Amino acid sequence: MPTQRLTLLGATGSIGDSTLDLVARHPDRFTVHALTAHRNLDKLFTRCVAFRPDVAVVGEAQDAMQLQARLRVAGVRTEVMHGPQALCEVAQSAGCDTVVAAIVGAAGLLSSLAAARAGKKILLANKEALVMSGALFMRTVAAHGATLLPLDSEHNAIFQCLAGAPAGGAGVERIVLTASGGPFLHRPLEALDRVTPDEACAHPTWRMGRKISVDSATMMNKGLETIEARWLFAMPPERIEVVIHPQSVIHSMVAYADQSVLAQLGRPDMRTPIAHAMAWPERIDSGVAPLDFLQLAHLSFAAPELKRFPCLRLALEVLREGCAASVTLNAANEAAVDAFLNGRLRYTDIAHVVEDCLQRAPSSAHESLDDILATDTQTRVLAGQAIQRAALRSASATVPLSLSTTLDEGIGARL
Ligand code: NDP
Repeated sequence: MPTQRLTLLGATGSIGDSTLDLVARHPDRFTVHALTAHRNLDKLFTRCVAFRPDVAVVGEAQDAMQLQARLRVAGVRTEVMHGPQALCEVAQSAGCDTVVAAIVGAAGLLSSLAAARAGKKILLANKEALVMSGALFMRTVAAHGATLLPLDSEHNAIFQCLAGAPAGGAGVERIVLTASGGPFLHRPLEALDRVTPDEACAHPTWRMGRKISVDSATMMNKGLETIEARWLFAMPPERIEVVIHPQSVIHSMVAYADQSVLAQLGRPDMRTPIAHAMAWPERIDSGVAPLDFLQLAHLSFAAPELKRFPCLRLALEVLREGCAASVTLNAANEAAVDAFLNGRLRYTDIAHVVEDCLQRAPSSAHESLDDILATDTQTRVLAGQAIQRAALRSASATVPLSLSTTLDEGIGARL
């Protein structure tokens, strides 16, 4: 069995943690070529000491020098690089055959595309890359003979349930993405404008990074996932369904023309889908405890309430209209979530900012990477203005933003 050489983009994040746990469990199968982070030098240092990659990448030159010096003192011979170009270099390097794309947000687009262009086996967690560049990304994967395997638990479940069947083909009737509904599934609607980042990040079933946790609370995450599924599985929008399933035991389903429905079940632990993709087409131990059916009280399902989850409504509109506005949707959401996490925007204004940007930005299909990047940049300017307008509006609202800002800053420091 040949060893897989991994480049792990986003090694200091939640997906990075789970991936490296699996590498440590299977040193005979996986070794590490490169680890990347943005700012978290301490965690990257520890990871380099433990996994001895050839290369490490950080965001800034000064941080790279600092990390390089620390590693030298520790006797670790890892070369430290910095910046977006370095991320692309380690993603396309001949030193790796597998790239785990786990940077959060649009920042992961170029390196994920670089891995596709280099024909790598790509384990994709960075759904934003596919939301932004779906058609281009899938064309690049096909043109360069790359292998694309989904890490997102829902898409990984669908991939397993399809078991090689042509997804968009006639035999597959629809795919059903399950969603936990997040921490505010039952919160009174009128209380939502007071929720804090701490509450939004306290997901009931999954432990994840802050951005995806907020996306799960608003259900923008599920909206992004419908767009991701549209591209990954060549599924027409009308054959993609979203169902609330609070227990997060069924990770998604595929319904076939004969009305067989295949589901993939497991504990809400990302090591299961990551292990599946890392070892595919084989199976390996993931370290996850077995699912005990006798302890599962019941599995329940419900339709998502679009009034409660306006971000999901907006994403579904973008999906149905052919995804032309998906770059705007993604960039506006990233800017709004960042503002919310930093105490500059109310939770309920995340959807307002996204809707505002969708109305103001021209929505035409993006043919090239330059088009995509230009729309992303323009949208962030629009979103900045929309965030300011929302802050002004909330200054005259019943609950002053300054109160939630104070709370948020205190919480943000602890997260
Ligand atoms: P985290 O926030 O935990 O980690 C993000 C990683 O990206 C960190 O290594 C971070 O480095 C790095 N990073 C952040 N900004 C930049 C940047 N500008 N340039 C380069 N690197 C950057 O996120 P998650 O691990 O939770 O999520 C990662 C991706 O996986 C997201 O796209 C998410 O939607 C997807 N995903 C996550 C799941 C989960 O369970 N967590 C499940 C399914 C999908 P640093 O630490 O130095 O800031």
